[in-house]
Amino acid sequence: MEKQPISEARDPQSANPAGLFRFCPSCGGPGIDWSGRFWRCGGCGFEYFHNVAAAAGLILNSGGSCLFLRRAKEPRRGCLALPGGFVDPGESAEQALLRECREELGWAPKDIRFLASFPNRYEFQKVEYWTCDLFFIADLGKKEAARLSPDPDEATGLEWIEFGSLPWESIAFESTRQALRQYLLRI
Ligand SMILES: [Zn+2]
Repeated sequence: MEKQPISEARDPQSANPAGLFRFCPSCGGPGIDWSGRFWRCGGCGFEYFHNVAAAAGLILNSGGSCLFLRRAKEPRRGCLALPGGFVDPGESAEQALLRECREELGWAPKDIRFLASFPNRYEFQKVEYWTCDLFFIADLGKKEAARLSPDPDEATGLEWIEFGSLPWESIAFESTRQALRQYLLRI
């Protein structure tokens, strides 16, 4: 399993996708420059922003344990992640979270509370996206917790891990570690 440092401070410029597009998607000319936030074509003035994507995650507490999915897919396949995913166009973060829970667990919480948001980097097909991950919290009884079942496309299994013994190095994303640290200050 790939080990990630607990804290990784990365310069936004390190996620430089400058070489990703070699030609302007508007005029087809070669004069396209990466500014750190957007591409701009010197030929026609077209600008394309590589914007931050929004995602939502759930810290689900059942009797002092937190629910994790063991990731079936890259990035960070085999590492632990919280239920959740990217916000689709037209969705609120809350709607996205409940949809992702239904898709990944066959269940969605009735009551969620906002915890905090943290930035994250997410690599997909060699493109690095900056995300803003919004974390929510919910509680679940032990009987209901036993009925959850993972979507095998998303997770190889579900794991309930006590908040007092979280395996920090096995957690897929830095934003998740930050959210869990914040949550631990509250309980
Ligand atoms: Zn152009």
